[in-house]
Amino acid sequence: MQKLKQIFNRILYLPPYQKTDRPILAAIIGNDKTLIIDAGNSSSHAKLFLNQLEERNIKGDWLVLTHWHWDHIFGMSEMQVPIISHYKTRNKIKELQDLSWEDKYLDQRVKEGTEIPFCADAIKEELGDKRDIFLPDPDLTFETQMEVNLGELTCVIIHVGGDHSHDTSIIYIPEEKALFLGDCLYANLYAKKWNYTIENTLRLIDRIEKYDADIFFLSHHQDPLTKKEFSSFLHLLKNTAFLTKKYEGDQEAIVREMSKSLQRRLNEVEIETISYFVNGFS
Ligand SMILES: [Zn+2]
Repeated sequence: MQKLKQIFNRILYLPPYQKTDRPILAAIIGNDKTLIIDAGNSSSHAKLFLNQLEERNIKGDWLVLTHWHWDHIFGMSEMQVPIISHYKTRNKIKELQDLSWEDKYLDQRVKEGTEIPFCADAIKEELGDKRDIFLPDPDLTFETQMEVNLGELTCVIIHVGGDHSHDTSIIYIPEEKALFLGDCLYANLYAKKWNYTIENTLRLIDRIEKYDADIFFLSHHQDPLTKKEFSSFLHLLKNTAFLTKKYEGDQEAIVREMSKSLQRRLNEVEIETISYFVNGFS
């Protein structure tokens, strides 16, 4: 069972859980108000988080969603607070409200290509037989960015989009120099082959690098990244984008050059990143 962790005085987070694809959930605690980031992938995920907050006498005042993917929104109805999201996130949630999540419907959508096996499997694993998902409409939406004042603490919510999900928003907390990135730096999973595109990745990185932060939360990374770890992650993405363009998606050539310049064999993450860029090259 995941346990709440604290970073600085004003950020609490529940680490992700890979087996059923639970993302990070966080509470940003100002002097007056608390903002919750993401709703979790089920009622039990949301409750696990809320109960641990309650033990510390903390309750949320608002919830913000980073993007529409099931694992970030299925716990929404447990939160009982006004929900903030990008307008494209709300539009996607409105589409999901009409869907059923029983095995036969999930399997059918996988067959049609509107759902992916990775998510269908995790949904079955997380939800067991309780599949009555209630997805309320987000209450507040925005187009480019908005600010939430929590009392001596600000959360800037910025729409950045990207390959992973076009509606993605990130949350920047300037007073804590913290940046919550949701899944925006992960590949596009809703495709025949998981992929990154050169153009979208570089555009996204350009936008993210403008925010001066010391700590970076990626929703499915076990722990937040330091500035150094984060910049090496961005370097891998930028370098792979560059080599993919240079070698026009020739995987072997990209691997050869990267391995030569690093003077070692590539690790799993590097190999995977290259294959996603190759998949997205056209
Ligand atoms: Zn996602």
